[in-house]
Amino acid sequence: MNIPLPFLDLITPNVEIESELMEVLRTALHSAAFVGGRALTNFEEHFAVFTEAAHCIGVASGTDALRFALIAGGVKPGDTVLTVANTFIATAEAITQAGAIPEFIEVDEQTCNMSPAELRAHLELCAIDTQSGLRLGRRTGTPITAVLPVHLFGQMADMDAIAEIAEEFRLLLFEDACQAHGAEYFSQREGRWRKAGSIGRAAAFSFYPGKNLGACGEAGAATTSDSSVAKQIQMLRDHGQSSKYHHEVVGYNGRLDTIQAGFLDVKLNHLPCWTDLRRAAAKRYNEMFKSVPGVITPFEPTGSKPVYHLYVIRVPNRDQIQAQLTKAGIGTGIHYPVPIHLQKAYADLGYRKGDLPVTEMLASEILSLPMFPHLTVKDQQRVAIAIESAPKHLSAISSGRE
Ligand SMILES: *Cc1c(COP(=O)(O)O)cnc(C)c1O
Repeated sequence: MNIPLPFLDLITPNVEIESELMEVLRTALHSAAFVGGRALTNFEEHFAVFTEAAHCIGVASGTDALRFALIAGGVKPGDTVLTVANTFIATAEAITQAGAIPEFIEVDEQTCNMSPAELRAHLELCAIDTQSGLRLGRRTGTPITAVLPVHLFGQMADMDAIAEIAEEFRLLLFEDACQAHGAEYFSQREGRWRKAGSIGRAAAFSFYPGKNLGACGEAGAATTSDSSVAKQIQMLRDHGQSSKYHHEVVGYNGRLDTIQAGFLDVKLNHLPCWTDLRRAAAKRYNEMFKSVPGVITPFEPTGSKPVYHLYVIRVPNRDQIQAQLTKAGIGTGIHYPVPIHLQKAYADLGYRKGDLPVTEMLASEILSLPMFPHLTVKDQQRVAIAIESAPKHLSAISSGRE
């Protein structure tokens, strides 16, 4: 009964395709192809097709992908870049590493993603730079040149509205798609489905092992449909080289290992099936929680096909419920307990508690439940039963919340 149920099972899917992965390793060992080469360009081509972007550039991590995308896409040192605070720290780090300064936009309570209304309200209240005509960051005082929404938990941000605002305020639009491999969004503006990573000037994906498409180590990729941005990212990942030992810009060592690219190419073939399994598991959770008062299940806007990197519920008595699940041997997570504007690393931005009330409220109520392709109905029933039997659950609800 109390066999641990992990938050994430990384073993089963890898073991299932073990022979395919071992073949990649064997080929690499026998050809000594460890950096660059055919396996890398094959994966880049396949992932570009998958994301419906013209170019994919494999890099060493999602953080590198974000940093290179921003720099190559035109973010300059000193610029202000708008993003959200309820994300993994890397979103803000990449902005900082590009020499720019993050400024945080409040999120929508239902989707947990950047609120277009808040984005517009923020920009409209900012002073205008007489020289450039751009808005000046409210806290930073430097020109706002870009906006970086995050497709959090595998659900795309409201890209039509954000793109419209970006055009109006002349902002470069980027995507943090590190959790959204294959997520889709119906663009009313264009009358067609768009995939994560194909919309912004450039986008970033992470292939950290726990992501929906995960390497057997560290890996990432940037996607773009602009060939000059693609060329620039290719240089940045490889010491700024345009050709061997000819360095046009000061770059980085941010290449994607050939072995990892080979693993990813194999796993990309299985991703559509794994995504279907995640969606089916999410649906089952939704059904199970319908009858559990106080549990808010993930909101799915119409015209959105999330890929459920995480399945995140909201509960008023989150810490008690998490403790109950832990006691029942069920792994959970909180993504993320401390929003970036309240992190010590970003204390110098001058934010205080209360500055982003929705973001902060979400941080206190969210709980990520076990979610992975091979999650079974039985596993999920165990989770539902443990949540229903949390002792303080009902009292918290009767005292006013939901
Ligand atoms: C994982 C993640 C990153 C960073 O990716 P790494 O590969 O770990 O560098 C950035 N942003 C978000 C939203 C992520 O989930």
